[in-house]
Amino acid sequence: MKFKISRDVWDFLRSVEQKDFERCGLLFGRGDSVLQAIEIENIKKSPVEFELSPLESLKAFEEAEEKNLEVVGVWHTHLQNAVPSAKDIRGMRNFPGLWIIMSRKEIRGYVLEQEVVEVELEIL
Ligand SMILES: [Zn+2]
Repeated sequence: MKFKISRDVWDFLRSVEQKDFERCGLLFGRGDSVLQAIEIENIKKSPVEFELSPLESLKAFEEAEEKNLEVVGVWHTHLQNAVPSAKDIRGMRNFPGLWIIMSRKEIRGYVLEQEVVEVELEIL
């Protein structure tokens, strides 16, 4: 499985600096194409988990809808490895789609099928 990531989104993801808590946001696009990434406040302000601010998410949904884009996934940072935590996997059940996780060293994408599968990210 493969997702196409626009150059702008890729550059944005690479520019996200690590803080002492996880940063997170939404991915918008169409189908398997990711065309926009937006940062949303992590209301948990935690180094090991994130929860998107519902208010900011709602605003982002509305803006995306105006541009005719759909939510295709979420992104967040990990202070350690870019692999899904147990909580991420539970989250993937409730929020299917592409999950991009960024560590200091790498950017990786996952989807939940029967189990978590890493997907190829093709930069356009
Ligand atoms: Zn995580």
